[in-house]
Amino acid sequence: MPAPPSHPSAAPLARVNGAGPSGALAALVMARAGWRVQLVDPLSSQQLSARSRAYALTHSSRELLEQLGLWADLLPALAPFRRLDLCDRALHRQVAFTADDLPSAALTSPANGSGAVGWILQHRPLMDVLLRAVRSESAIALHLGAPMDPTSVDLLVAADGHHSPTRRAAGLRGWGFSYRQGCLTVQVRLRGSAPDQAWELFRPEGPFAVLPLGGDAFQLVWSAPMARLQRLEAMDGAAFLDVLSAALPDALQADVLIDRPQAFPVSWELAWPLQRRGLLLLGEAAHRCHPVGGQGLNLCWRDVAALGVLAERCVAGCFPPSALPARYARRRWLDILLVLLATDALVRLFSNRQPLLLPLRQLLLTLLGRWPLLRRLSLQAMSEGPCRLLGA
Ligand SMILES: Cc1cc2nc3c(=O)[nH]c(=O)nc-3n(C[C@H](O)[C@H](O)[C@H](O)COP(=O)(O)OP(=O)(O)OC[C@H]3O[C@@H](n4cnc5c(N)ncnc54)[C@H](O)[C@@H]3O)c2cc1C
Repeated sequence: MPAPPSHPSAAPLARVNGAGPSGALAALVMARAGWRVQLVDPLSSQQLSARSRAYALTHSSRELLEQLGLWADLLPALAPFRRLDLCDRALHRQVAFTADDLPSAALTSPANGSGAVGWILQHRPLMDVLLRAVRSESAIALHLGAPMDPTSVDLLVAADGHHSPTRRAAGLRGWGFSYRQGCLTVQVRLRGSAPDQAWELFRPEGPFAVLPLGGDAFQLVWSAPMARLQRLEAMDGAAFLDVLSAALPDALQADVLIDRPQAFPVSWELAWPLQRRGLLLLGEAAHRCHPVGGQGLNLCWRDVAALGVLAERCVAGCFPPSALPARYARRRWLDILLVLLATDALVRLFSNRQPLLLPLRQLLLTLLGRWPLLRRLSLQAMSEGPCRLLGA
């Protein structure tokens, strides 16, 4: 149960449950805004960094990392892509997004001298930088690898992932469904793609992303029915590479596996409401979407950016800590809902050979190919979030 600060001049105290990419960054924005923060996770720092995963970062994430002074530290680990090819494999149509399609603020940012459409970042260097920054912040008390007794705080932030024990304990529900499709991630060495080119292949069995990691290394995010992915996961390396070559466009040739393919289920989830007295839900504790378009982590970090703005206003005396969760929920619901609906619509529209949908896809891709304005608006919505496009 939240309590007011013990001393009027003391900074408000928050507890962030979960030190994953969302929770660690949330602790940092709150500390920088003048809060004292307890950051808690049952995993050790080694376990937190150990995932084999790569994230596609958009310009909304770049802005937040720049504001926090983390961009320069991450730069050596970021693989920029300057071109994103969207291919409909059933229609044999292709549209390319380049720096020319970026909104001008993203293109002219000094941090984007290379004209990147986005960046790929591996989980380990990300967590190493985040945990180092957290440790250097005197306002953050880090509790990793061991349970921590509940203490009285002004604000509880649930950033404890999609199972979110904190959300469940508060009686807040997650609404949603599981996709029939799952998702398989693997890193490979590829020939035939430029090192700064990303691909989103729409195949009838599901979207397939090819994301550059630097040089000839690429992260693949392969969506297909879960049973098929489990069969792929169980194959030996040579057999897997054969099936993979058949799934990729002819121009791309997979040579070597860098890690083991891993299949996992994919779901659409929205927690509602996003807050309760003294508690707010953030990151995957609040929402989860299909990996198409690489929106998931960027959406989580826009939650963090909104929390940072409100935490600062609260410390400036604009409103008490008890008013923060409701303000946060009002700021976040539209962006979250639009991204969840848009990613779901993309999956439903493109993962099939439905004769009624093919002409619609044909029209959409023709318009995207011919109208730079439509490409720019689509890339802006993906890159900065739909709300900024709508001016909301
Ligand atoms: C298997 C899998 C593969 C994925 N692959 C990709 C990918 O390739 N690319 C991509 O962009 N996205 C991927 N995602 C999505 C991406 O991982 C999420 O968007 C991102 O991890 C969300 O970060 P988060 O901090 O909100 O949640 P999480 O990363 O789930 O972090 C939650 C943290 O809360 C901690 N926790 C749990 N219970 C408690 C508790 N009671 N108290 C305190 N802490 C607790 C956990 O230990 C964990 O560290 C994947 C997701 C999954 C599940």
